[in-house]
Amino acid sequence: MTADLVAVVVVAGLVGLAVGSFLDVVAFRVPLGLSLSRPRSYCPACDRPLAWFENVPVVSWLVLRGRCRTCGARIPGRVVAGETGTAALFCLVAAVVRPVAAVPGCCILLATGLALGAMAADGSTLAPSVTIVGTAVGAAALAVAAGTSAGWGHLVDAGIGVGAAGLAGLFGSARAGRLATRPGLGNRSGVADGLAALLPAGAVLGWLGPWPAAGGALVGIVVGIGAAGAAAARRGSRQRARVGNGRTAAVAVAVLAMVGAIGTAGLTSHPRRSGSALPAGRSDPPAAHWAAP
Ligand SMILES: [Zn+2]
Repeated sequence: MTADLVAVVVVAGLVGLAVGSFLDVVAFRVPLGLSLSRPRSYCPACDRPLAWFENVPVVSWLVLRGRCRTCGARIPGRVVAGETGTAALFCLVAAVVRPVAAVPGCCILLATGLALGAMAADGSTLAPSVTIVGTAVGAAALAVAAGTSAGWGHLVDAGIGVGAAGLAGLFGSARAGRLATRPGLGNRSGVADGLAALLPAGAVLGWLGPWPAAGGALVGIVVGIGAAGAAAARRGSRQRARVGNGRTAAVAVAVLAMVGAIGTAGLTSHPRRSGSALPAGRSDPPAAHWAAP
């Protein structure tokens, strides 16, 4: 690892800690229609607003030993797991995705999937605003990367990825009506909500190119088959159908497809990634230009 790469990964990790902390707020407040900025973070047990030093990701949890400073209520370990998990994934993106200009966009799209995953795990409504805003901001960040260093071909591919994910989502929603008659998968609109998480995933898979997209799709399909198998195993039981299962599975497929694609991008270095780093007309001038007086 070069010093530059280490710096990028460290910065991504620190940003990931903060974003992970923010996603916890998003997952809790947005489905309830609450503002993200007001009121400030507070202890849900004693309603006391938190001081800044109680809000530092991971560090505060460790220092406070996982409890509220005044009332002693337990701070769920999930908060810390979300922060460290987001940071780890951002580090992975920073270490793998090239050019570096594309790292923010990929991180935003991944974070969108993680926010939806946290909402699904909570059994909350998956707020469409999170999918729309997250995908749009992530795509805008990728557009900046395309304009500055990656080349527009990647952005077109990302658009194709979003389109393909949208079609897959529509197909899945149409099938969801039939799936929903089986116990364990939940109702149709719930599954359709979850499939919306495919949109940010499509952008990441499209941007990263064919091999990572194939790797991500493979991971997504394996997870999907596993989820369907788990639902089928439950079919015989009398357990009441839960609204969230199909939706949670759909979001899990989307998030793990992104992680799988990024992992595959790290393992493969197919020609497009390096080859299109210097697109015609938008690239660094050839060495001869620099040498000229
Ligand atoms: Zn408290």
